[in-house]
Amino acid sequence: MTDQCESREARILIVDDSPMSVRLLSHYVRDMGNIQFALSGMEALEMAAEYLPDIILLDVEMPVLDGLEVCQELKQRDALKDIPVIFVTARTGAEHEVACLAAGAVDFISKPPNEPVVRARVRTHLTLKRQADLLRELAAIDGLTGIHNRRSFDERITVECRRHRRTPAPIGIAMIDVDHFKRFNDLYGHLAGDACLKQIAEAIDTTARRPGDLAARYGGEEFVVLLPNTDADAVVRYGEYLLERIRELKIPHEGNELGIATVSIGVTSGEPVADGCNVALVSLADEALYEAKRSGRNKVCLREFGE
Ligand SMILES: [Mg+2]
Repeated sequence: MTDQCESREARILIVDDSPMSVRLLSHYVRDMGNIQFALSGMEALEMAAEYLPDIILLDVEMPVLDGLEVCQELKQRDALKDIPVIFVTARTGAEHEVACLAAGAVDFISKPPNEPVVRARVRTHLTLKRQADLLRELAAIDGLTGIHNRRSFDERITVECRRHRRTPAPIGIAMIDVDHFKRFNDLYGHLAGDACLKQIAEAIDTTARRPGDLAARYGGEEFVVLLPNTDADAVVRYGEYLLERIRELKIPHEGNELGIATVSIGVTSGEPVADGCNVALVSLADEALYEAKRSGRNKVCLREFGE
């Protein structure tokens, strides 16, 4: 999971019903990022959703949908609520400032805009946004393996279950556990154990590459893969494929039957029909994993939803 939020150019969206103002503001921030503009509130919402800017300079006084309404709408949407909004306004007074902040703005600039002020405010909030993005990204990553962590998986499966309830489709889950990992650590030491986990995590991550797929370290030597739009047959095929990928790594493991590291995989698939389906799916995959362990390891077992 890599998001080039550090290296890529910042995206700046300028919204104003006056083309003159748009031109002026664009000129002021010309070298600070990639600039897009919108000339109405409606257009601003469309552009924000499509373009996911890092900052929005938003005119308050616009016909139909004014800046305050646009900002409130942005704050309602999960994908857009973290974009910092700086209001650009001709109005002054404490009451107006309070209204702007209450709508969710991080700052405001008064009209007519002053170039050094605009640049300083935009620079500050772009820096803060970059740091916030980085923290969000770090909070979702497992420190050892660099793939998603359990918290990130829990968040994503909740979102996916909600989405699948609106447009019914099966969600597949694969729960993966390294066979005889304790023996591995005893034989080769904990540093080698860590290296083994990293290698396996990377292999798992490369198998989860469709949009919406997510591979995470669930804890210890346990991993989980979320596979949206995947039925029971497909999730079993996925499991078999993953078993093979792990065996192909040929990580030496004398404490294991084949002499190389292997995994056991429990899979399930089901259509989320009620609240709590995320929990039910994970616990079914977990039961299937237990079955795979009990019946000899290095294999895939399926537990179907609603069985
Ligand atoms: Mg205006």
